[in-house]
Amino acid sequence: MASADVAEVLSRFSREALVKGIGQEGVKRLRESRVAIIGCGALGSTEAELLARSGVGFLRVVDRDVVDYTNLHRTHMVGEAEAEQGVPKAIACRDGVARIDRSVKVEAYIDDVDSDNIEDIVKDVDIVLDGTDNMDTRFVINEAAVKYNKPWVYAGVNSWYGTVMLIEPGRGPCLRCLIPEGQEGQQASCDIIPAIGTVTTIVGAMAANLAIRYLAGDGPEPGVLYSIDARENTVEKVKVERNPSCPVCVRREFKLLSRPPRFGVISRVCGSEAFKLRLPLDAPEPQDLASRLSSRFSWVVSRPNYVKVVTKEGVSVTVLGRRVVVIEGAMNEDDARRAYDEVAEAAGLPTY
Ligand SMILES: [Zn+2]
Repeated sequence: MASADVAEVLSRFSREALVKGIGQEGVKRLRESRVAIIGCGALGSTEAELLARSGVGFLRVVDRDVVDYTNLHRTHMVGEAEAEQGVPKAIACRDGVARIDRSVKVEAYIDDVDSDNIEDIVKDVDIVLDGTDNMDTRFVINEAAVKYNKPWVYAGVNSWYGTVMLIEPGRGPCLRCLIPEGQEGQQASCDIIPAIGTVTTIVGAMAANLAIRYLAGDGPEPGVLYSIDARENTVEKVKVERNPSCPVCVRREFKLLSRPPRFGVISRVCGSEAFKLRLPLDAPEPQDLASRLSSRFSWVVSRPNYVKVVTKEGVSVTVLGRRVVVIEGAMNEDDARRAYDEVAEAAGLPTY
């Protein structure tokens, strides 16, 4: 940082610099830090807001979904305008951070996280934060974090309860040490997760707090699992041991990183009636897609980050960003595939 920038940063964060363990040195370190946040829902938006407010200079945010009204009770930096327009969560997060601090650089990606992109997301940042809602993505993050020796903060919420753990490869357990294969249990399911904004905020804040301490050089102990019970207002700490035969952090077998990405596979969007699939290549810009589709479909909506088409059967197909397709109003996977193929053929996208 140039000396004028340093002076400005130290002035803006003068109260934070008084905090034990941070100081002026910590403030400068935070400004030069690079953080990836995977998922921009309740947890991710809390983490992004708090990290931006604490002075982190670079955020990379990734999310595959759009804001809707059911998100507003727990998601930070969004309101009715974003829900009404169906703004992609990654874009809403980027714009929210810009309202807080224009000098924070934010890279926003509208995409699913899988084996084909996780390494690029993780390898040039200082720490990764979990803002996801499913264990499969967490284990993909875990493998990439171990492979590139990057710390990451695991965070999960269910109802009044939450868990947070800083994972530092080489200095303690990884997520696979904590949850062996086959023991993911109910957490692996795609059910609607009960959630309340106070608890997602507490857990997101604890995750951001661990990241801030790590980045500021006041490293918290890795491998401590914090279990939050927000009904009882208690936090329990358990030291997790490294599994001496862990396939990921000991044997370095990165099974999920080497699995083929699931392009073109139709699946349910967790917690919704919609279906989704992921494209193997970047779709054309929404405006170009819209002009190709408007001759075939009477109902086409084009926005800067997505294009939405409704088929004559009343199924809506949204190409969100460049890689994610969301299909709503289909009775089943076959219906969803038919609707997608009809749109894809007109748009010049791959059919399945
Ligand atoms: Zn491990």
